[in-house]
Amino acid sequence: MAQFSYTARMENQLNAPQIDVKAFAKAQTHLSGQTPLAQFERISQDCVGEVTGDVVWSIQGSMKTSASGADAAWLHLDATAHVPLTCQRCLGAVSLALRLDQDFRFVADEATALAQDDESQEDVLVLSRDFDVLALVEDELLMAMPIVPMHEACTSERAPTSRGEEVDVSAEKPNPFAALASLKISKS
Ligand SMILES: [Zn+2]
Repeated sequence: MAQFSYTARMENQLNAPQIDVKAFAKAQTHLSGQTPLAQFERISQDCVGEVTGDVVWSIQGSMKTSASGADAAWLHLDATAHVPLTCQRCLGAVSLALRLDQDFRFVADEATALAQDDESQEDVLVLSRDFDVLALVEDELLMAMPIVPMHEACTSERAPTSRGEEVDVSAEKPNPFAALASLKISKS
C-alpha cells in the first residue's frame, strides 16, 4: 500500500493536491493533510470572527468489484473541522465541530453519476485524472454545515459576543434523503 502524508502549510506546491483517481485507487493510496480552514474560501465566507484552526483530512483509495462484476474506483474521506459561526437563536458565537466519514464511488461520465447517485448509499462522482481533493473536502464540509446554525441549548446569560460552545454536527446523521435512498435499495 502506497502511503504518504504531508502538511499543506509546509508544502506550498501541494496546497491543492490533485489526484488521478483511478491510479490512486489501484495503488490503494492513502493521502492525508492538515489545511488551514482560512484556505477554504467558500467556508470562510460563512464564518464570523477570526478564522483559525485546520481542517484535518485523509483519503484512502481502493478498487471494489460491484455486483455486476465491474471494478470501480472508490475513495473514503475522513475529515474534521471546527467552524466559527453565529448562532441564529441567540446571535452568540458557536463553534461547530464537523466530521466527515464518507465513501465515494467513481464512474466514467456525468450521466452515469447522475443516474446512480440517488439510488446509491455512497456518493457517485465522475472519474478524473486531476481530481481536486480539497475541493471535495470543502464541498462535503459545506453540505455538512447546518443551514441554520444554533447552539444545542442557548443560555440566556450568554452575551452575544461570548465564546461559543462546541456543538457536534455529524455528517452521518440520518437525513430525509438517506431515508429515501434506503427505501429504494430495499426494492432490489
Ligand atoms: Zn445560541
